[in-house]
Amino acid sequence: MRRVSIFGATGSVGEQTVDLIQRAGGPQAFQVVALTGGRNIARLAEMARDLRAEVAVCADPANLAELRETLAGSGIQAAAGPEAIADAADRPADWVMSAIVGAAGLVPGFQALRHGATLALANKESLVTAGPLLMAEAAAHGARILPVDSEHSAIFQALVGEDIAAVERIILTASGGALRDWPLEALAKASVKDTLAHPNWAMGQRITIDSASMFNKALEVIETREFFCVTPDQIEVILHPESLIHSMVGYRDGAIMAHLGTPDMRHAIGYALNWPRREALPVARLDLAQVATLTFRAPDLRRYPALRLAREVMARRGLSGAAFNAAKEVALDHFMAGRIGFMAMAGVVEATLAAVDGDIGPEIGTFALEDVLAMDHLARTRAGEIARKVIGED
Ligand code: NAD
Ligand code: MG
Repeated sequence: MRRVSIFGATGSVGEQTVDLIQRAGGPQAFQVVALTGGRNIARLAEMARDLRAEVAVCADPANLAELRETLAGSGIQAAAGPEAIADAADRPADWVMSAIVGAAGLVPGFQALRHGATLALANKESLVTAGPLLMAEAAAHGARILPVDSEHSAIFQALVGEDIAAVERIILTASGGALRDWPLEALAKASVKDTLAHPNWAMGQRITIDSASMFNKALEVIETREFFCVTPDQIEVILHPESLIHSMVGYRDGAIMAHLGTPDMRHAIGYALNWPRREALPVARLDLAQVATLTFRAPDLRRYPALRLAREVMARRGLSGAAFNAAKEVALDHFMAGRIGFMAMAGVVEATLAAVDGDIGPEIGTFALEDVLAMDHLARTRAGEIARKVIGED
């Protein structure tokens, strides 16, 4: 039986992974090793019982007693805290879903790769902050990374059987998020609630807001560069409001291969779960006659400074991805708490990149995971200071 672990099991991607595993036979078909979650202890315990996991781990030690109590009599081990999450990734598994949100997903992913596991990678932050290290770690241990971000799964599928040298460009599609039709002048006043009304995808709150600001697409551009080893000028972003083309690969003969499907993450999660086979998935089928039209437009960079910043990060490389992601997470925290405006997030990130510039180091291969974590910490500190200035608390 295949041994599987799910990091971030109680989140949006995690729940959909659990759903596919249940539909494929649950504990009769898979040996579930570790499930991890954040604050939703009741749900974590419930899925651990349903899937007969070996261990359930929550993010905060303050919730450990509750987790233990909820699991009492089940024979499932309970643990808590970042170290326990890393330890859970040390338990050998064949297939590991990395679906913790943010830089917190970095260490467990590395840990799983060291055991040669197939890592289904939803946590794009891992590639953005430590792409060259993550790819090298996978290669060193004969581990495989399968992309779970819908765009990257689409690209991966459009590359099957092709020579990467024949790729001319990669075209990432973007829905434009909740505010895509707002007038530019109104964006500064957008509230958290406004940004959460995503037109197509149901996702976690943080990534939904990042979709509206296109910080999500900025992370994905960097993720594309790191995972597929293409140059920044080969990566294009196109606004595609219907979100039915999940991304495309353009070849040197002018042909474009596109992946189409309904906006349902179980396409990408299921592809990674069943790879290299294709199995039936419970996703709605596209009715193209009903769709009738697919539309596209170039993104307006004045609305999406994050896309410009992504280009700077790719040019700079080194630890700038770690700084970019950390600053974005801090800016997002402040926006979500109502302390800074929607357009101020990019300002905080840009100022943070400038503030840590002396510590970015040279391009690649010269840093270790500890350096990434140190930059993550430094950039969070600087971004916090910069955000406080924006708020006027200083
Ligand atoms: P989510 O917020 O719904 O869930 C995140 C999970 O991580 C939860 O289980 C949460 O409890 C856990 N978590 C949060 N902070 C943690 C911490 N500090 N330590 C340990 N666990 C923690 O997020 P999501 O939307 O499922 O996204 C997960 C990842 O997948 C993100 O990296 C996101 O960018 C990526 N992704 C998501 C989607 C989507 O459709 N939701 C699509 C593509 C990529
Ligand atoms: Mg995506």
